[in-house]
Amino acid sequence: MSLRSRLTTAFLVVVLGPVLVGAVFVAAVMSHLADSRGEALANSAVTMVDSTLGTICERIQASAAAVALNYRNGDQENAVEMAQLLVDRAVVDGVVFSSLATVSTDPGTDIGAEAPQGSWVDCGETVAYAGSGPIVALGAQAEVQNSDGSTAVFSAFREVDQAFLARLSRVADADLILQDSRPNPLEVGSAGAGRWDFTDSFLPLSIGTVATDVTPMYWTLAAMVTASAVCAVGLAAWLARSTTRPLAELSAAAERVAQGDLNVRVPVHGRDEVAQLAYAFNRMTAQTQSYVNALTASRDQMRGQLGRLGQTLTATLDLDRILEVILDTAMVTAGAEAGVIMLVDVDDADQLRERAGEGDLGLTEPASIRIGEGIIGAIAAGGVPAHGRIVDGRFEDRLRAATEPNAHTIVAVPFSGRQPVEHERSSGRQPVEHERSSGRQPVEQERTTGRPSDSEFGGAPRTDAGVLGVLVLYNRIAGDDFEPGDVDTLKTFAGQASVAVENVLLHRHAERLSLTDPLTGLWNYRFMQTSLRREAERSRRYQRPSALLAIDLDRFKTVNDTYGHPVGDQVLIELARRITGQIREVDLAFRHGGEEFMVLLPETDAGGASVVAERLGKAVNARKFKVNDATGGRELNVTVSIGVAVLGEHADTATGILAAADEALYAAKAAGRDTWRVATA
Ligand code: GH3
Ligand code: MG
Ligand code: MG
Repeated sequence: MSLRSRLTTAFLVVVLGPVLVGAVFVAAVMSHLADSRGEALANSAVTMVDSTLGTICERIQASAAAVALNYRNGDQENAVEMAQLLVDRAVVDGVVFSSLATVSTDPGTDIGAEAPQGSWVDCGETVAYAGSGPIVALGAQAEVQNSDGSTAVFSAFREVDQAFLARLSRVADADLILQDSRPNPLEVGSAGAGRWDFTDSFLPLSIGTVATDVTPMYWTLAAMVTASAVCAVGLAAWLARSTTRPLAELSAAAERVAQGDLNVRVPVHGRDEVAQLAYAFNRMTAQTQSYVNALTASRDQMRGQLGRLGQTLTATLDLDRILEVILDTAMVTAGAEAGVIMLVDVDDADQLRERAGEGDLGLTEPASIRIGEGIIGAIAAGGVPAHGRIVDGRFEDRLRAATEPNAHTIVAVPFSGRQPVEHERSSGRQPVEHERSSGRQPVEQERTTGRPSDSEFGGAPRTDAGVLGVLVLYNRIAGDDFEPGDVDTLKTFAGQASVAVENVLLHRHAERLSLTDPLTGLWNYRFMQTSLRREAERSRRYQRPSALLAIDLDRFKTVNDTYGHPVGDQVLIELARRITGQIREVDLAFRHGGEEFMVLLPETDAGGASVVAERLGKAVNARKFKVNDATGGRELNVTVSIGVAVLGEHADTATGILAAADEALYAAKAAGRDTWRVATA
């Protein structure tokens, strides 16, 4: 049963119930009143008939007595006269004389109407008529003793005919039927009368009184009840509809919300409770919609950020760019105001240095902090993530360092990545030297020193606890504290950061391997070709000189032949070390092949190159080369011959400058070795 039909039914029961009960009550009262009124009417009619008949009878009796009184004085004439007067005055209809003493005046002649033939009822009777035959008259007798002793009888009467009954009926205002005997009221009756009674008088009369006809009132009542029922049904339907319609609208709207349509609003009718519910519903959906919008926006932002992160991770090997995007994404995900990724410094493994930073926390310089110092330094040293509030520059038991931002909440996750792999090293390598690259340029354009650096062969720099760096976020935007969930999120990003660091270094390492000579660690022939071409191009474009030195060991074959190839290799390694010890950072040293080396001196003319050649020759022959063979240590005298050629002066191309340097080298050899020569134009 729907709410609407329930409401309709309830309303109808509440409204129509009393109406129906009232109607029944009114009908009962009406019927009772009608009965009472009928009773009263009947009683009054009976009383009226009785009293009228009583009066009539008294008159009849009085008339008979008056005539008899006149006759007793012996005066028959007077008696007749009296009778005549009474008839004339219509007191009685007639007087019958009988058994008079004198009959001279035809005393047998009756006065008035002729005595009707049939049953007479005597007024003196006290019980109802019980004779037979129709009653024709109402009479009374008076007797007088004649002088002769006989009894004269005078009978006065009123005719009981239709006219008499009609008059009586008018007086009593009732229908009258004359019976032969006392009637049973249940058996008499006619259409016009509602009720029949009978008189207790001697005349057996049935008295019919008109009953009050309540049928029209019943109809009126029924019509009123019907009308109010129709009104009640209409009202109930309207009420139920107006009550349930907003509810139906609400439920339809809720259904649409359930299907995901948050644009739905319900109309608000009036200010009642249902209207308030509708209003609250509208506010609720609007609020939900704004939450959903905010969530969608943040999801889209996150999606974009993750896309950017993925793209960056796959597309670039620029470590700082990658760290920047990782930091951005971590900040968006955790909702942080600022953040920083710090890595262990390549130059100082006891120091953390900022490699990516976002948000303004009042620090202008890229931050750096000693491991173990301040908040971040302590977290990095411990190698355990931490999050919480910084109160008065204090986080847990650590005091903020001057180089740390003044934030109120922090979450920091140190990351270590895989443990460093022990790389294979060539014998006699120099101690590891850390990379000083800013890392901003593509790898190939990064600072490439005279000899390639080999810091990365030992993996990325780490703390004693094996930490590569630390990802730190400050001040949650929502204002509340970071949560353990944020630590978990950050661990993911920290993991990515460590993978990125390792990948970039691994890539550089692989690249370096493909460009370096495994024996001496100098740049190889391939990289020399690239470098020469680039330098020739640069020199041509800017009209700047660049010198190339071709260096060849003198009589090296003899060394090999005398002491063996491994000793020869040791000489080559030591020579490479002496060459790189004599050149600038911007200069490049290559192993051209065999025992021939090349040195590229950018921004150097023939004069400058000659100085370097001279210095190099000295660095080689000034001190003996210490080598080891099966018999033990030994010292060898080694010399080199050097050919010098200048880009822009002796040649303009890579092959041209190589040929020119070789030619000059040949000239130096020809000049007796352990010397240098400049190419001829
Ligand atoms: P010159 O003064 O004319 O240069 O005399 P040289 O003996 O050095 O002659 P050349 O430059 O032709 O010598 C080439 C020799 O270098 C041949 C080979 O034994 C030696 N050599 C080339 N590559 C290597 C190497 O990788 N290791 C060793 N131990 N020796 C090499
Ligand atoms: Mg040679
Ligand atoms: Mg040689």
